[in-house]
Amino acid sequence: MIEILRGITELRAWRKALPHEASVGLVPTMGALHAGHISLVSLSRTQCDVTIASIFVNPLQFGPNEDLAKYPRPLENDLALLEAAGADAVFLPSVEELYPAGASTYVVEESVSLPLCGAFRPGHFRGVATIVLKLFNLVQPTRAFFGQKDAQQCAVIERMVRDLDVPVEIVRGAIIREADGLAMSSRNVYLSPEERRLAPLIRHSILAAVDAYAAGERNAATLVAKGRPLLEGDPAFTVQYWEVRDPQSLEALATIGERGALIAVAAYLGKTRLIDNQLL
Ligand code: AMP
Repeated sequence: MIEILRGITELRAWRKALPHEASVGLVPTMGALHAGHISLVSLSRTQCDVTIASIFVNPLQFGPNEDLAKYPRPLENDLALLEAAGADAVFLPSVEELYPAGASTYVVEESVSLPLCGAFRPGHFRGVATIVLKLFNLVQPTRAFFGQKDAQQCAVIERMVRDLDVPVEIVRGAIIREADGLAMSSRNVYLSPEERRLAPLIRHSILAAVDAYAAGERNAATLVAKGRPLLEGDPAFTVQYWEVRDPQSLEALATIGERGALIAVAAYLGKTRLIDNQLL
């Protein structure tokens, strides 16, 4: 049976009771679990003796006009999925416990978190970095597993871990997709049937640039010109960014060299904000 840990005291007791030499894998999530989350649990199970997932819809990473209130919270189903995936424990803290009244300390990464989503979601990565460091302090995992789906989130967390000497190894899991190429996301449930039909255009626009890269194109602006107009050409989408950047620093790139590149895209489809990316 999966162990359900509802508070910090319970979590710390669970952690303390583990054998000293056991490696512990942490999979932080906001719930509404799908095969993308479960792939991270499976990855953790291959690399760690013990796997714990967390489910916490972190208010600190939502903007005032974002979907915090309507974010899906199918807890029973999430617990069944984690149990079936073989997670050993799940941490389900409350907002009040993680952010006691008067909490006034935050983690602010000031480089990798600025462009792309950082430019459109002010405060988002401050919320992410703060909650992730708190989870690291509470769980003290050997490894923590994050999805490449949120490539900038991975980059911010890797930078935080390096800069603050956090004793954890960050592991990235591959993007899990629907059969038609749409990256799985808890937010896909917001899409109307018509929007859901259109949504794979994000992936198709990226693949147009991937094809050009495979054919030898190394000029970033040319790759953007292959993909971005495909998405912008469909009036159902409002593109926030469609960019080719350095895969680690996320700085702008003119030419793609040995370090490769990240194609990163964010677009609204109706009222739903979708992101996707591809490493080159
Ligand atoms: P979230 O619940 O959206 O905060 O996501 C929790 C973790 O699952 C993050 O590390 C995400 O990057 C990861 N994740 C979300 N969607 C996918 C996906 N389609 N493929 C792989 N990982 C994902």
